[in-house]
Amino acid sequence: MASSFMGLVNPGVAGLAPYIPGRPAAELENVFPLDKALNLASNENTLGPSTKVLRAVRAATGKMHLYPDGSTHDLRIALAEHYGVGPERLFTGNGSNDVLVLLAQSFLSERTSAIYSEHAFVVYALATQMCGAKSLVAKARAWGHDLQAMSALVRDDTRMLFIANPNNPTGSWVTHGALHTLLKALPRDILVVVDEAYYEYVSVDDYPDCLSLQADFPNLVITRSFSKIYGLAGLRVGYAIADPEIVGVLDRVRQPFNVNQLAQTAAIAALQDQEHVVDSRAMNSAGLVQVVKGLGSLGVSALPSVGNFVCFEVPKPLTEERLYMMLLERGVIIRMVGKVYDMPGYMRVTVSTSADNRVFLRAFGQCIDDAA
Ligand SMILES: *Cc1c(COP(=O)(O)O)cnc(C)c1O
Repeated sequence: MASSFMGLVNPGVAGLAPYIPGRPAAELENVFPLDKALNLASNENTLGPSTKVLRAVRAATGKMHLYPDGSTHDLRIALAEHYGVGPERLFTGNGSNDVLVLLAQSFLSERTSAIYSEHAFVVYALATQMCGAKSLVAKARAWGHDLQAMSALVRDDTRMLFIANPNNPTGSWVTHGALHTLLKALPRDILVVVDEAYYEYVSVDDYPDCLSLQADFPNLVITRSFSKIYGLAGLRVGYAIADPEIVGVLDRVRQPFNVNQLAQTAAIAALQDQEHVVDSRAMNSAGLVQVVKGLGSLGVSALPSVGNFVCFEVPKPLTEERLYMMLLERGVIIRMVGKVYDMPGYMRVTVSTSADNRVFLRAFGQCIDDAA
């Protein structure tokens, strides 16, 4: 007899659609051997982690039978020193995704609402919905966050406002001045969560200095990640920098061992190799220019980006699905964003080494020629 548990599920959970990661379905293995494909779908650092991280992780494998340090003491100290803030302001999670969900679980419920932008990173919608809270979605401006439109949506029951800076998938960013204006306008009992997963990649001058803003706005929560420039996406470690009271709340709701032992070891070693960060940032800055220019010569317009990825409009007569398959046939995987992010006709590609970027651009050029 078929059972139906869906009627028993929390209303917020029942309405969720599962997150679809940027890996192609296994059945596409016959189109191209997936382990040989160039994967530019998930904004990973294709340089991988620092060699110092690899050494530290190898040396730590002998302790796998032991539970990790549940308080992530050494990692919190390392992060605190790195940023010059007190360790009581640091909270670590199983990726920053974990941190975002724990924030939502702590502050959102059926009787509250959360604000985010159209085309914003999908986890804000998922986390809000999961908690049964109401989503207030602000219209975007030129594909980016319109902070004025966001602040206009504030209601009495609003507890959180999410800002992706830069946003994935659009690459758009908000400036220090705009964020400061928003913080001044908002009631101080609304948590403003600024997701800076790509923080280390950004090199524009007017990018917000959120650490300094926290002095005046304790409701400002920063989240950052080891998944992107540090090249540790597979180990899962991210963190928040926030008011100690907020950190205390998150410490109550997290699992006792929410950051695994190898992740802690890797993250500490990664922080100690800032040269790898500098190299990765330099590669990306050059790569962004290369990819945007290359797309331009193919007649494809890209959205301005300060991350390690570019969003672009698929040229007609190609469609997203068609381009995805044609690139896969040539061994290149990129990300479809049209459906999930309500951006029909757009796709996202991760910026990589100049050789990889060339492979992508050449393959894309062939797809355009073949489709003509
Ligand atoms: C990749 C990404 C994250 C983080 O991921 P974790 O791997 O969970 O740390 C968070 N926010 C945005 C906007 C991202 O693109």
